[in-house]
Amino acid sequence: MELNTRSYNDYIASLFAPQDPVLSETIAEMERENVPGINVSAVEGKLLQVLALSVGAKRVLEVGTLGGYSGIHLARALPEDGKLITLELDPHHAEVAQRNFERAGVSHKTEIRIGPASETLRQLNAAGEAPFDLIFIDADKDGYTEYLDLSLPLLREGGLLLGDNTLPDAVLTQEESGTKRYNAAVVAHAELTTIVIPILRQHGLDGLTVSFKRTPAA
Ligand code: SAH
Ligand code: MG
Repeated sequence: MELNTRSYNDYIASLFAPQDPVLSETIAEMERENVPGINVSAVEGKLLQVLALSVGAKRVLEVGTLGGYSGIHLARALPEDGKLITLELDPHHAEVAQRNFERAGVSHKTEIRIGPASETLRQLNAAGEAPFDLIFIDADKDGYTEYLDLSLPLLREGGLLLGDNTLPDAVLTQEESGTKRYNAAVVAHAELTTIVIPILRQHGLDGLTVSFKRTPAA
C-alpha cells in the first residue's frame, strides 16, 4: 500500500503547526510578489522552531532567506535580544522578506545580508562574528558542501547544523545531487553526530539533515 503522506501531513500540520494570520499573510505576500513557493512546510517550520529552542539559540544563521517564512519560525524561537542573520542572493526576495519580518514583529531580531552566500560567509568568518547556536542551510543545492565548510567554523560546540531538502530522489539512484553530496560530507566530519529526518510533504517526502557539533574529548 502506498503511504498516503498527505493525510499524515495534514494531521501533523493541523495539530502541531496551525497557521496564524502572520504566517498565512507571509505566504500570500510571496504569492503576490511572484516569489516561488519553495519555503519549508508549516510542519518543518515548527520543527525548526523546536530545534532552535532546544539548543537555547540566541544567534541563528540562515543561508537562503526567500520570503522569510522559515526565518519567522526561527526568529520566534529567539529571545528579544537574539539575532537571526539570514543570507539571500536575490534583492527582490530580500525586500519581500524584510516586509514579512516587519509584519511578523520580528524585524528587531533579524538582519538580511544580500549577496552570494559564499562571499557573505567568508565575510562573517573574517569579521570574527560571535559563534552561532544554529545554522540552517537552505539555498542553492550545488553550494551546500561549500556552505558546510564555511559554516562549521561559525557554529559553536553544542550547536546544530541543519541542511534542508536532503532526501532528493537521487539518494535512491546513482544520480549526482548537491544535497546527496552534503549528506556524505557531514557524515565524514568527526566532530558532527548526524541523522537525516524524513519530512512528510503533501506529495512524497523531503529531508532535514540534523548535525550536532560535539565538544572534542579532552
Ligand atoms: N529558507 C526559505 C527557502 C529558501 S529557498 C524558506 O524555507 O522559507 C532558496 C533561496 O536561496 C532563494 O531565495 C534563492 O534566491 C536563494 N539563493 C540561491 N542561490 C543563492 C546564493 N548563492 N547565495 C544566497 N542565496 C541564494
Ligand atoms: Mg528548503
